[in-house]
Amino acid sequence: MDNCLFCKIVEGTIPSNKVYEDDRFLVFHDIQPAAPVHVLIIPKKHISSMNEVEMEDFALIGELHKVAQEVAEKLGIAQSGYRLINNCGKDGEQTVHHLHYHLLGGAKLGALVQ
Ligand code: IMP
Repeated sequence: MDNCLFCKIVEGTIPSNKVYEDDRFLVFHDIQPAAPVHVLIIPKKHISSMNEVEMEDFALIGELHKVAQEVAEKLGIAQSGYRLINNCGKDGEQTVHHLHYHLLGGAKLGALVQ
């Protein structure tokens, strides 16, 4: 997708600090970490947001959770715990319009809504 930051990261035209990659998913460190561990898990397929996930994509989204499990283990936060967050749309404060999940951990995380 033209002009999509995360598609450019997938293509490699914008660099990223990769944690995991396979043919369908990429996981990389968030450029502005909000926790000691903060990575973004994305499908390589361009899907703009949770609202645009089609029926044919739900198996892919399910597999993304398996990637989250494995990355949490790899980054040493599986036992202590973590958050897996998807921001959708304006009120969700989604800023990059390529579906992504934040995997956050490495410390006790605060309340989600103040
Ligand atoms: P959102 O607010 O849920 O859309 O999350 C977008 C995330 O992408 C934010 O946490 C940003 O810090 C992160 N981000 C933006 N640009 C880059 C980048 O070039 N590399 C890694 N993370 C980025």
